[in-house]
Amino acid sequence: MTAIDTAGLKTMFDAIAVAIEADKDRLCQLDGVIGDADHGIAMVLGFGAVRDALAALDLSAIEPTALLNTAAKSFLNAVGASSGPLYATAFMRAAVAVKGKVTLADADLVAMFQAMAQGIRDRGKAEIGEKTMVDAWQPAAEAAAAAHAAGKTLAESLEAALEAAKRGAEATKDMIAVKGRSSRLGERSLGHIDPGAASAVTVIGAMRKGLA
Ligand code: ADP
Ligand code: MG
Repeated sequence: MTAIDTAGLKTMFDAIAVAIEADKDRLCQLDGVIGDADHGIAMVLGFGAVRDALAALDLSAIEPTALLNTAAKSFLNAVGASSGPLYATAFMRAAVAVKGKVTLADADLVAMFQAMAQGIRDRGKAEIGEKTMVDAWQPAAEAAAAAHAAGKTLAESLEAALEAAKRGAEATKDMIAVKGRSSRLGERSLGHIDPGAASAVTVIGAMRKGLA
């Protein structure tokens, strides 16, 4: 049984910042094909700001909800691109999902993960098949919930989430963009992976590493 406290959540965000930094150029290249080539920069700015904001906190004095709200605020302030409000909403919803808890058990972390995916969906109003990060986040959240309900460990549940996110991101290649900047391309968006779905795989992979 896992018990993640504020220090554990900080470890998770640090792991995401490192992974996104390493993936920056690829994400900019993907966004260069069907967007404006800034997605890697936006994600590095966002998760870099989160890392810096969390480093300034007294982790022993706050609960997970306060840490997640700090992450939301710093991500939103740092990112002008559409990924800014999407991830900020994910972290705000994560904060609500674990409100009142001092340490997070497997069930809390799976609920937090689901809340993040739902927040992205609600904020962007995108459905599955519209070639956005939702195509990675939603199946990932469903896979994590199903694995957890089947009695799997947190590590196994997040591994299932990661595999589902990878399949979802790969599937965006065959989709026509309906939401966001790349929707202007219409059918010309076919054949290319959505950058936000690609970065979601990186984020989820780092969460798995950082938490489990
Ligand atoms: P921008 O398009 O403003 O330059 P980014 O490059 O940071 O923003 O992010 C682009 C990604 O944001 C897309 O690849 C897509 O996954 C995601 N995205 C854009 N609009 C939406 C939306 N309405 N719902 C969900 N995701 C979206
Ligand atoms: Mg962009």
